[in-house]
Amino acid sequence: MSTLMRATGTFTKLLSPSSHSFSLRPSASLLTRHQMSTEVENVITRLKNSGLLRSQGLIAGKWVDAHDRKTIKVCNPATGEVIVDVPCMGQKETNDAISSAFEAFYSWSKLTATERSKYLRKWYDLLIAHKEDLGQLITLEQGKPLKESLGEVSYGAGFIEFSAEEAKRIYGDIIPATLPDRRLFVLKQPVGVVGAITPWNFPLAMITRKVGPALACGCTVVIKPSELTPLTALAAAELSLQAGIPPGVVNVVMGNAADIGDAILASTQVRKITFTGSTAVGKKLMAGAAGTVKRVSLELGGNAPCIVFDDADLDVAVKGALAAKFRNSGQTCVCANRVLVQEGIYEKFANAFSKAVQNLQVGDGFTEGVAQGPLINEAAVQKVESFIKDAISKGAKVLLGGKRHSLGMTFYEPTVIGDVKSEMLLSREEVFGPVAPLLLFKTEEEAIRLANDTNAGLAAYIFTNSIQRSWRVSEALEYGLVGINEGIISTEVAPFGGVKQSGLGREGSKYGLDEYLEMKYVCLGNMNSN
Ligand code: ADP
Repeated sequence: MSTLMRATGTFTKLLSPSSHSFSLRPSASLLTRHQMSTEVENVITRLKNSGLLRSQGLIAGKWVDAHDRKTIKVCNPATGEVIVDVPCMGQKETNDAISSAFEAFYSWSKLTATERSKYLRKWYDLLIAHKEDLGQLITLEQGKPLKESLGEVSYGAGFIEFSAEEAKRIYGDIIPATLPDRRLFVLKQPVGVVGAITPWNFPLAMITRKVGPALACGCTVVIKPSELTPLTALAAAELSLQAGIPPGVVNVVMGNAADIGDAILASTQVRKITFTGSTAVGKKLMAGAAGTVKRVSLELGGNAPCIVFDDADLDVAVKGALAAKFRNSGQTCVCANRVLVQEGIYEKFANAFSKAVQNLQVGDGFTEGVAQGPLINEAAVQKVESFIKDAISKGAKVLLGGKRHSLGMTFYEPTVIGDVKSEMLLSREEVFGPVAPLLLFKTEEEAIRLANDTNAGLAAYIFTNSIQRSWRVSEALEYGLVGINEGIISTEVAPFGGVKQSGLGREGSKYGLDEYLEMKYVCLGNMNSN
């Protein structure tokens, strides 16, 4: 059966409420199921027509099912509706994908940089040409507002464009020789087959920022997207094929995460693993990579401080903190996790910030004007609830929100909590939801101490009008990225990555390519012989 027919079958099922394999929470939903289905139906029809709704894995350029035909369901988090079934793959399919990438590596790595660059450029053009489709797919399976999804497509495609450009600038080196009859060179060569494991919060961008530089350097890849959001990955892979990127260069498997991860770790053909996700899984992968001494890049959890000093411009601070906290409903690893506010501006900031948060419209990501979609699943809501309960039990005050949204499902009210202290869970761990905890501090030294009092070290934000303070605090923060008077700073041209337990390595920028390159020293001797 063709993919389209499989998919169409699933869509017909989708429209019949009785076939849903989910249950709405009893408190759910002001949005009626009929309204939601019509919206989803339209989106799916458009995606089907564009050929981007793929529901199989990609191995050696072929769309394939799991060997035992097992499937998993991909759902729309805003409604719980099943969008489509995808294969539940494991060790066997992963090994097939690795073999395919290994085989393709030989010819892909032998292409000239210009040839690889052209393929990547074509892929970028197709991603942009299908921006609307991809944006809808992201909202459909991940839930974020369509405007944010479209932003993710531009951002994600940017990594492919940047990689196409940088592919031509992977220079080696000539080192002045220490002996007259020698010449010393450094070659940069691709590491080989790369295993890329990605999360659900940026279904496209977390893939392109790994695969773009990998392909530019001459590596081939086995991608394992999150089982919650595999459809965007599959659509991007489809476009890589349409761009002419040869079969086997890009492979996608999904299903049993631990089995797939183990197969990647065990393989001696996979020379590098690149991962974005939780710190717990990242540590497992790092330990597992020791068996074959694989190279490892990790983008793990953060605990971003957002520091508002007395001398900040209030409007800039409110706008920046809002963007840093509530993007993707608080579900990014660079989201402000703690808002540290100096005592002189605390009251004013808390009021203005709460007012701005109150204006954030919650709803289905396809609805015009919505700024906050659902959380990814029930577990995410329960985590938020437990963190808030912990904070309240220790003396924190709910200034706004603090409960599930009346829309039901996994919608949660944008929330501001005051009087938060550093021993509360809200300060210690990533809440990964639409909750802004406010902590009061008195001095710059105290702010730095509080900000650095964590094992994480990904993003930090500061708001101040003092140039000297901007430098002082940026230098003192133990973080990989610092935004000064800005809440959203990620871009493909700058290095992204953490220190401490937030990870290893950098993605994006010219530095990101180093992660996929080996350095080889070549010594040419006996220069005087013929
Ligand atoms: P999150 O909390 O963001 O879902 P996870 O670390 O659980 O973070 O997931 C990130 C990615 O890691 C997903 O693709 C997930 O399927 C994958 N993953 C989870 N557990 C494992 C594992 N044991 N081995 C390999 N990949 C895993």
